[in-house]
Amino acid sequence: MRRKLAAGNWKMNGLTDALSELKALAQAPSPNQTDRMICPPATLVSGAAQIAGDIQIGGQDCHINESGAHTGDISASMLSDAGATAVIVGHSERRQDHGETDADIQNKTLAAWQSDLTAVICLGESLQQRENGDTLAVVASQLEGSTPDGATGANTVVAYEPIWAIGTGLVPSLEQIGEVHDALRAQLVERFGETEGNAIRLLYGGSVKPGNASDIFAVSNVDGALVGGASLKANDFQAIIDALDAA
Ligand code: PEP
Repeated sequence: MRRKLAAGNWKMNGLTDALSELKALAQAPSPNQTDRMICPPATLVSGAAQIAGDIQIGGQDCHINESGAHTGDISASMLSDAGATAVIVGHSERRQDHGETDADIQNKTLAAWQSDLTAVICLGESLQQRENGDTLAVVASQLEGSTPDGATGANTVVAYEPIWAIGTGLVPSLEQIGEVHDALRAQLVERFGETEGNAIRLLYGGSVKPGNASDIFAVSNVDGALVGGASLKANDFQAIIDALDAA
């Protein structure tokens, strides 16, 4: 049985006082079947890790190298040293804003594993690709290209995030989400075998809110969510955690 996962991506939001939201989440009782993760900006990782209790703290990106002349970048070992146990790689905003390719994301995933971080690999189609009927081919190719050999349920989480649903309030139909998640599951099992292919958790991401969370979590092969905007406020994220734990 896969444990569920509610992961929050704060993106480039949050000064020190935002840690009070994390504190509120950490003070809530631990859910039974659900792991929780918050990925704050890098400046807050260390402070967050100190107050997070059993909430995992993750980075939002890492460099492929452990150290070196890469001004402004952060390595997986730095995140780990600051208390992170996971890192998001290949978020569509990184793919778009920084030109990251599947090969880059595969290398970042390897760097994450080397520092004992769980990699949360993001993928998803654009609106154009969806309208052209290319969604399944696009996500299959991203999954294949972004995931290194050796992925397991412990070192990897995959987040399906349609680009057009991120921060827009638009959400695919439940059938569309299920179709993609079932296809990703089949591909993971095919490549990594029954045990690990079934152990890797598949998150849905894109405008998950307290009001739509229960419906999304009832879809097959949805093991949780990667949540942007609604993870910034403890009350909203807690409602999503509760919906997931009850699903
Ligand atoms: C995200 O950034 O990963 C995301 C899903 O954002 P939002 O929940 O705000 O759509």
